[in-house]
Formats: sequence, C-alpha cells, structure tokens
Amino acid sequence: FIEFDEVTKRYGALTVLDKVDLTVDRHEVVTLIGASGSGKSTLLRCVNGLEDIQDGRILLDGDVVSGEGVDLVGLRRRVGIVFQSFNLFPHMTVLRNCTLTPIRAGVASRAEAEANARTMLERVGLKDKADAYPHQLSGGQQQRVAIARAMLMRPRALLLDEITSALDPELVIEVLNLVRELATDGITMMMTTHEMPFAREISSKVCFLHQGTILEQGPPEQIFEAPSAPELRSFLRKIH
Ligand code: ATP
Ligand code: MG
Repeated sequence: FIEFDEVTKRYGALTVLDKVDLTVDRHEVVTLIGASGSGKSTLLRCVNGLEDIQDGRILLDGDVVSGEGVDLVGLRRRVGIVFQSFNLFPHMTVLRNCTLTPIRAGVASRAEAEANARTMLERVGLKDKADAYPHQLSGGQQQRVAIARAMLMRPRALLLDEITSALDPELVIEVLNLVRELATDGITMMMTTHEMPFAREISSKVCFLHQGTILEQGPPEQIFEAPSAPELRSFLRKIH
C-alpha cells in the first residue's frame, strides 16, 4: 500500500536515507526504531511529501507520490501526519481546529464538518472540550485532538512521529490507547516511538534504521527477541 523503492534522501552531502526499500501493506502498523539521527522522521516525512527525495520512488496505493509534479495537497489529504509537538492552532477552539481543514479542502460542509468533529471528539474522549482552546488542555488531550483532526480528513494512512515523547508519563497511556484503537480499526499506520512494549504489541512489522538504511525488519517477536544485526542488538541493549 505504501512502497519505498530504493529511496535515497540527501541533505547536501549528507545521505540520510540510503536506497531504502520498504513495503507497508494495507491495515499494517509499521514501526520504525533506531538511534537518534538514523532517519526515522525523515522517512515518515517523505511519505506525505514533507521532504523531497533524490533517488528512487515512493508509491501510495500504486500511485507514484514522490518526485516532480506530485499533487501535494491531494497527497496530504490521503496521508495524515501527527508530530511530537501537537501543532494545534492556539487561537482556535478544539472544534475549529478539527473543522478548518475539512471545510477548506471541501471534504465537508461546515455543518457536516462540525457534526463529524463532535463525533470524533467524543470518540477520543473529548466531547466536553469542543469549545476549549488548546492551552486549556493537557498535553495528552491536545495530542488526542491532533489525532482526531488528522482522522477527520479520512486519510488512507496515518503517520505518527514520536507522538508521546513530549507527554508526561501518566498522559502517554491515553494517547497509546487511542492509537491502539485506530490500529484495531485497521487504519494503515507508520510510526516512530520510544515506547518499545507498545511497538511490540501493536506493530505488524518493525524496521530498524541504522545510518539511513533499514538494517533489519520483521515481525516484532523477531526484532525484539531474536535480532540478528549486531547494531540492532547493541541498540536494544542500550534502550533497556
Ligand atoms: P530522532 O530519534 O532524534 O528523532 P531520527 O531518526 O528521526 O532521529 P531524522 O530527524 O530523520 O532522525 O534525521 C536524520 C538525519 O538527517 C540526521 O543526521 C539529521 O541531522 C539530518 N537532518 C534532518 N533534517 C535535516 C535538515 N533539514 N537539514 C539537514 N540535515 C537534516
Ligand atoms: Mg525523529
């Protein structure tokens, strides 16, 4: 469903992704792990065109979505992304944050967008917060709004980049619960996370990035319990 075909990404002389091959099937949850700077965020950002690539190609549902002439607006409608910093619009209410893009993109009328947003907010446990402003919410609540907002575009896939890293430990769980629910619903996801037990639980596939290449990939049991690459073993030792 999402396919990386020998994708190379450079910043000047620095090669950040080096001939990456990766396939994410529909309904899969693929987690990227690896040391800081190994290229995890860059890889995610390439999927919805936040980064351009220098070689290879990326396909989404059979369409090439990398390179010149890609409809970035259309692409970002099909692939939602949520970041570590929640990136909500601070001067808009939660409801408005959730309806702005669907209305602008012509995905829904204002009335529909508001009804959808209220349903989604209820689903993420924030029905009562529709009229609150982001600064009036906890970090975990803000992140759930960010996820709700992404889901309201009815994306074909969701990219989650360290979405719990900025949260206090007691708020992490509520966000992970929501991600788990989305995974159960079958939305295709690519994510990076430091929450290894969670990655192990919900991922269909885990990819270990090392210096811009996927050194090892496989089901979580294999990656966490029977890693073969020495670099992966040493990475797992360090984080435990
Ligand atoms: P972390 O775990 O710290 O989030 P990461 O695996 O997500 O790390 P990336 O953010 O993808 O790593 O960065 C990969 C490499 O690309 C790093 O060496 C980084 O310094 C470099 N890099 C990222 N963004 C830029 C940029 N805009 N210009 C130049 N180099 C960049
Ligand atoms: Mg990163």
